[in-house]
Amino acid sequence: MKGCPLRCDWCHNPESQSSKPVVAQFRRNCIGCGKCIEACPQHGITAGEDGIVINRALCQSCGACTRVCVAEALVLRGQEMTVEQVMAEVEKDRAFYENSGGGMTLSGGEPLYQPEFALALLQAAKAAGLHTCLDTSGHAFWPVLEQMLPYVDMVLYDVKGMDPRRHQQYTGRSNRQILENLRHLTEDGVRVHVRVPVIKGYNDETGEMTELARYLRSLKNTPSVELLPYHRLGEGKYESLGIRNGHHREPPSREQVEALAALIRDLGLECQVGG
Ligand code: SF4
Ligand code: SF4
Repeated sequence: MKGCPLRCDWCHNPESQSSKPVVAQFRRNCIGCGKCIEACPQHGITAGEDGIVINRALCQSCGACTRVCVAEALVLRGQEMTVEQVMAEVEKDRAFYENSGGGMTLSGGEPLYQPEFALALLQAAKAAGLHTCLDTSGHAFWPVLEQMLPYVDMVLYDVKGMDPRRHQQYTGRSNRQILENLRHLTEDGVRVHVRVPVIKGYNDETGEMTELARYLRSLKNTPSVELLPYHRLGEGKYESLGIRNGHHREPPSREQVEALAALIRDLGLECQVGG
């Protein structure tokens, strides 16, 4: 689901930050036909020295340019769908869920950014007898999150760091509400799996991870933890979206992440390292 209140410095999914569809541009595919220039009702596309230039300040996300681009040099990321349309997609994989024990996971972006739609979708999935999972940053008013819980079997909950000042600096938002909501969730007995992105220079120090593990231990029902090392798969997306990328960074080494996981286990938590 598109739209997110955070702007994490390491975001892998910049195409999901805006709640509107966005045009991704793949310059190498362009055959120079010029059809996109003619198609744009905003006169927002021009031919530059290095190829097609999109004026993103003018773009209204109508998708007209992407529909005439046969070379797939312009592709619209995101579309509006109804709950019924999403459920029709979800139902196509029902046999797979039954064999694997899976179900429907709402992720993003941030599903709680579109709370009415998320709630309606979770209700529809539950009515259809599906297992449901909510993958969230937890940045929402508690009543918004709480209303989803009767229709959620499991919550995947991102905790990015413990220092409020640095959290604000690196994600654009304080972690106060996120940590408070996590406490409420665990007090309500919801099954929670905490996921922590491991970001070099932000939260990859033992002091930060120790504080995080101690906080999780202090919760009524201690959640399991998964460390997710930063990877570079999202970096090319910034260029395709015309975002000048200051976000390139080095991934942590496997050994470093394993050492942080061992530290968390030593503090009494169940912890695994994700891919
Ligand atoms: S329509 Fe596509 S292939 Fe043609 S000029 Fe525009 S971007 Fe290039
Ligand atoms: S999405 Fe619409 S407004 Fe935006 S560049 Fe393409 S044609 Fe123009």
